[in-house]
Amino acid sequence: MRNFIIMGPPGSGKDTQIEALLESHNLTMISSGDIARKLASENNLYKEIIAKGELLDDKVIIKEVEKEISQIEPALGIIFDGFPRTVIQAEKLNEILVNNGRTLDAAVYIHVEEEEIVKRLSSRLVCPICKRNLDPHNNICPECNVEGIRRSDDEPVTVINRIQTFLDKTMPLVSYYKDRGILYEINGEQSVENVTKDILERLDFESKV
Ligand code: ADP
Repeated sequence: MRNFIIMGPPGSGKDTQIEALLESHNLTMISSGDIARKLASENNLYKEIIAKGELLDDKVIIKEVEKEISQIEPALGIIFDGFPRTVIQAEKLNEILVNNGRTLDAAVYIHVEEEEIVKRLSSRLVCPICKRNLDPHNNICPECNVEGIRRSDDEPVTVINRIQTFLDKTMPLVSYYKDRGILYEINGEQSVENVTKDILERLDFESKV
């Protein structure tokens, strides 16, 4: 198991799970959310799109992801965080991986109901310096020692749009990968540790990575 996608609605806990997977395996990550935010820091139009909870143009994101994939050493597996987000991106990812001598082994879908997502995102706080998610009950970053803030795209209106965008554009990928026999659906409404455990077990991690 070397190259795989982690997908799920905003607030499904993708980032936390990816952090746990990166700690113990020969893997690196490509995050299209990070790519999008970097592009937005140099372009106001992209900033507005993110603030509205919509998606950046497929071509722009694909180009950056392709660049990152080509720079990763072959011995490392890749976790894709937030990419692909559309069927067009998924098709393109297959092509890019083949061109880089890789294949996609799994698409992990972390399932969380809409009501729970709204609840989670409206109380989410992040560190303004290192951007990590903080424990809402102890709103101080353990690394940077500063108070957490709400992510600008976690404002309620944007949250609703992000969920809608997920349902319209990204949900079709669940059937896309199911049809290809590589979908692994995980219940995201359990403790962080149990979600990680499920992912590791379902992907048969220890033996294949
Ligand atoms: P979340 O999963 O919490 O919605 P991300 O950090 O993955 O947040 O993404 C933040 C924003 O960046 C998205 O709402 C979208 O505007 C943009 N973005 C991220 N990934 C993609 C992608 N693959 N294609 C287009 N836009 C993207």
